[in-house]
Amino acid sequence: MLLSVLLVGVLFAGSAAADVPSEVAPLQPEATTAITERASVTAQKFMVASAHSAATEAGYAVLAAGGSAADAFVAVQVMLNLVEPQSSGLGGGGFLLYWHAALGELTSFDARERAPLSADERYWLGADGTPMGFWEAAVGGRSVGVPGTPLLLETVHARFGRLPWAQLIAPAIATAEEGFPVSQRLAAAIAEARDLDRFAETRAYFFEPDGSPRHAGTILRNPAFARSLRLFAAHGAAPFYTGAIARDMVAAVRTDTNPGILTLEDLATYRVIERPPVCIAYRGHDVCGMGPPSSGGLTVAQILGMLETFDLPNLGPGLEARHLFLEASRLAFADRNLFMADSDFIDMPEGLLNREYLATRAGLIGPDAAMGIAPPGTPPWNEAEPRAPDQPRPGRGTTHLVIVDSYGDVVSATSSIETGFGSRLMTGGFLLNNQLTDFAREPAVDGVPVANRVEGGKRPRSSMAPTVVLRDGAPVLLTGSPGGANIIPYTAASIIAILDWEMDPQSAIDRPHVVNRNGPTLIEEGPEAAAIAADLEALGHDVAIRDLNSGLHVIRIGPYGLTGAADKRREGMALGD
Ligand code: GLU
Repeated sequence: MLLSVLLVGVLFAGSAAADVPSEVAPLQPEATTAITERASVTAQKFMVASAHSAATEAGYAVLAAGGSAADAFVAVQVMLNLVEPQSSGLGGGGFLLYWHAALGELTSFDARERAPLSADERYWLGADGTPMGFWEAAVGGRSVGVPGTPLLLETVHARFGRLPWAQLIAPAIATAEEGFPVSQRLAAAIAEARDLDRFAETRAYFFEPDGSPRHAGTILRNPAFARSLRLFAAHGAAPFYTGAIARDMVAAVRTDTNPGILTLEDLATYRVIERPPVCIAYRGHDVCGMGPPSSGGLTVAQILGMLETFDLPNLGPGLEARHLFLEASRLAFADRNLFMADSDFIDMPEGLLNREYLATRAGLIGPDAAMGIAPPGTPPWNEAEPRAPDQPRPGRGTTHLVIVDSYGDVVSATSSIETGFGSRLMTGGFLLNNQLTDFAREPAVDGVPVANRVEGGKRPRSSMAPTVVLRDGAPVLLTGSPGGANIIPYTAASIIAILDWEMDPQSAIDRPHVVNRNGPTLIEEGPEAAAIAADLEALGHDVAIRDLNSGLHVIRIGPYGLTGAADKRREGMALGD
């Protein structure tokens, strides 16, 4: 067993309230845990990397017992729900890429939350017709979409599992009953979370009887979650969609303020959708990600497709490459904000990854001057329906995990309840998502419709970008991150550092983040920030230094074995054998 974590020191970064471009809703600050030194982990047969050591260990045990990547995913996800409850769980949704080695096939699963069937584009408009503010919308039942995670777990296990279902859930049941120590990151997140004491079940779980937030190291038991997991172990996902837990969820969203309209029919008709992954060729590799309703795969692919026209391997990771990356990101976000949403509901241009189109877009990049706000392009498209853009939001919840099993199967999955602690509503010992706030809250701008407007049964646009990079038809790199719309640049930058500059995974993800979502250039606070800012300002970038809280988990699959890394900005771990 090889351990990744060199835990030299832990410190809490302060409030990130300033991390808000002017066009987006105020963010809730979240304490981040910065671990000052780590090294990549190596292994030969199998590996798992996730955002919490207990979840990684649960996945490791499954892989060591001969389980598949799908089996390990189930064990990791239910444990994460318990020990990192603010980020993901059975009340949320996500996206998963699965490489099936025996078939030589990569597929993707869309387990994104879905809007109630009776919702319409006025969903986020208040009585006066103006859009609700982010927190007004997020806290309470109205932001809760139909969760996809329970059915995702059942689906991938049914397709690719090797070990008995109940065995995968048993460790999380035991931990829920025996209790687990509240981590420093969770304690800090509880202390800083807005409105977390608003609803009784949530308050009772995350706060002491005297109202003080649970401290790090407190042993927290979750008998309600153990009961939900027992139902899950015995009956699969059915209780969550047609049974007792479904009824509890529907009851929970009927809050006094900001109530939801979710019905039993919404839950009973929910489906996980298997979709073809979205891939782009990049310097001899195929970089594959999640298509709509996520914008993640397409936007990462656009950035890479534009950057392939520049010689990044020779430029190296200096200022010039950084500038090119930021400009390609601006251009990709301009297209994303205008065109991308749930393509089961809206038409999207077919040519977003067209080579000539991306080369034309790349031609707009000046090598030594920032372009300012990038205009969207005119990708090859038969439709000419007018569209208005909506703005991306940086996020604070969500978790990414990567797994390689001893059969060569891999999982790259990003799982979410949207913002940290989701809607703040709990039922059955788990938090319910606020994913419906990922829809545009304004259905139209000056009468022109927004692609990501609410519609009944539609899935809100995501930025989640679970990625599998293939070379010669087999996986060589798994990556992805939480971070709201910053997921896209975090993920793309990790791919470039590892493929173009041959960095080991830990060094690649340790690099300070520098991102652009077609607005100001944001630079991660840290010792190098001022120098990076000065260099970019000289090229005309409008810069701001911010806490940029990624959670990249990466495995490189090389000819001599596996190399994994867990983001030092969170408290995860990579582990393999
Ligand atoms: N809800 C966001 C999305 O789907 C993710 C939020 C986060 O990363 O914190 O894109």
